Amino acid sequence: MNRRRRIYEGKGKIIYEGPEPGTLVQHFKDDATAFNNKKHEIVDGKGVLNNRISEYIFNHLNAIGIPTHFIRRMNMREQLIREVEIIPLEVVVRNVAAGSIAKRLGLEEGTQLPRSIIEFYYKNDELDDPMVAEEHITAFGWATPQELDDIMALAIRVNDFLSGLFLGVGIRLVDFKIECGRLFEGDMMRIVVADEISPDSCRLWDIETNDKMDKDRFRRDMGGMLEAYQEVARRLGIIVSQERPVGSGPTLVQ
Ligand code: UDP
Repeated sequence: MNRRRRIYEGKGKIIYEGPEPGTLVQHFKDDATAFNNKKHEIVDGKGVLNNRISEYIFNHLNAIGIPTHFIRRMNMREQLIREVEIIPLEVVVRNVAAGSIAKRLGLEEGTQLPRSIIEFYYKNDELDDPMVAEEHITAFGWATPQELDDIMALAIRVNDFLSGLFLGVGIRLVDFKIECGRLFEGDMMRIVVADEISPDSCRLWDIETNDKMDKDRFRRDMGGMLEAYQEVARRLGIIVSQERPVGSGPTLVQ
């Protein structure tokens, strides 16, 4: 087997050197983690699903002109991506109150927000990813004011696209997180969407039942995480359900 140089290993993914300069391979692991790695389990098959779901979303973002690091999926667990300089921010967009904003502001989970809200968290495990304001970001030089404008514009476009995509398959996009990176092309640099977008980084609720179809099933010990991710993939048409529809009668076994 080809030995590739491992560049970085995170909680859910490994980054390897890519086949050509300027490319990397992003490998999705089955590790489920929450609360800054205090809760950790292996969920067989999660990496495969996140690889497929993230591929589907990034392909669509690329197709509508939202720049991303994604090039193509290589196999069940890996995708080829462009090498970018990751900006050390988690950019969270919220449409409905849930999770930390519900707690922080005393909002009932499920309350529609007056408008979409963007928040920034400084990516730093030792500090538990503290929430920061634009002032901190520009003062400490994590991103310039112009870059922040680009990041916010990207975040809104991703939110608009994802909200519609999920609504079309009966899912409410409550909130999600993206990461952005600087892509250098010759003398030019532009900000692109990086990392992944999957049920690990989004809150997805069934429109009818409000059932959670995301990582909260793991965070909150609800069980059924893999099944929920499978259902997201099935609704998006990424995987075909193996189950026959109820009431479809006997089938001929060949
Ligand atoms: N999120 C993420 N990675 C993080 C923190 C949050 O992907 O390290 C996502 C999370 O899945 C949710 C959104 O960002 O979709 C907002 O998360 P929140 O601030 O409510 O924090 P949490 O409740 O996840 O601690």
